[in-house]
Amino acid sequence: MSNSTYHREGTPLLQVKELKRYFTISRSRGLRTTQFILKAVDGINLSVYPGETLALVGESGCGKTTAARCILRLQRPTSGSIKLLGKDFLAMRGDELRKMRQCASQVFQDPYAALNPRLQVGSSIMEPISARGKIAPIERVAMVQQLMADVGLPADALHRYPHEFSGGQRQRIGIARAIAGQPALVILDEPTSALDVSVRAQILNLLADLQTSRNLSYLLIAHDLSVVRHAAHRVAVMYLGRIVESGSVDDVFLRAAHPYTAALLAAAPRPIPDAAKILSPPTGESPSPIDIPSGCRFHPRCPFAKDICRTEDPALVQLSTPGHETACHFPL
Ligand code: SF4
Repeated sequence: MSNSTYHREGTPLLQVKELKRYFTISRSRGLRTTQFILKAVDGINLSVYPGETLALVGESGCGKTTAARCILRLQRPTSGSIKLLGKDFLAMRGDELRKMRQCASQVFQDPYAALNPRLQVGSSIMEPISARGKIAPIERVAMVQQLMADVGLPADALHRYPHEFSGGQRQRIGIARAIAGQPALVILDEPTSALDVSVRAQILNLLADLQTSRNLSYLLIAHDLSVVRHAAHRVAVMYLGRIVESGSVDDVFLRAAHPYTAALLAAAPRPIPDAAKILSPPTGESPSPIDIPSGCRFHPRCPFAKDICRTEDPALVQLSTPGHETACHFPL
């Protein structure tokens, strides 16, 4: 996907502002119990526009999955706001919430674990259709058959069970189920990482085709940067609960401005064509989210850290290209 001319259009479908998700952790030593605050997500802002894919990337434990769970309201954020289709998603209750939930769905990393092994494929895909309201049974079956055809499943899959399918086909079932409720936003949580390399490209191509034909917006959670390069329009790089760089895929991959982004690109197991090669992979362990370093949270691992980095937390600021932002006192 070429992103050099990519521009966001329209108003955001999803708008997340100052989202925080803290957990209280208790640790006992002898008779003494101490409580800590684990800052999994620590004030992130992001927007997803109609028909685009925003990738959220970072090392495991950086908070990207927690952020996605908050966006789906599977976890209650500690603070912040989430607007879906311009409406306050966190304030919704009852029927309004039930309806709005259908606007956002998820494709899981492990398609087998995400499917009920006792439900036939047709019934699994039909569940979100039934939740849409009164639709005649014959119409529902026709919708399931159409969805199965759209994702490339054979017609006889209707009455078969998930264990009868390969990993790639199961992910197709998961995708059909995810789009059956006619969502506007789909969260793709590592959608290809559990699949054989040979079928990854097929699933990514399928997701791209469905995005075009249904004007879907994707929030892609991924650690494989070659998948992100191929599938996303924009990228937000997370480190210890914060977004440290965001921009179009070309901005972030070819003109990485944050030392952490550059180190992540250097650490990619599969070379990424044209990616900026400025640094070596990140050294040392990522600090614990219960003990976040002062100043710039990346400073203990950053080869460019100076005194100010240890005391002043850099804000996310725009660089020379509109939409390209980074939180670093000394961008590359
Ligand atoms: Fe490195 Fe300083 Fe930039 Fe943080 S603010 S990434 S420590 S140069």
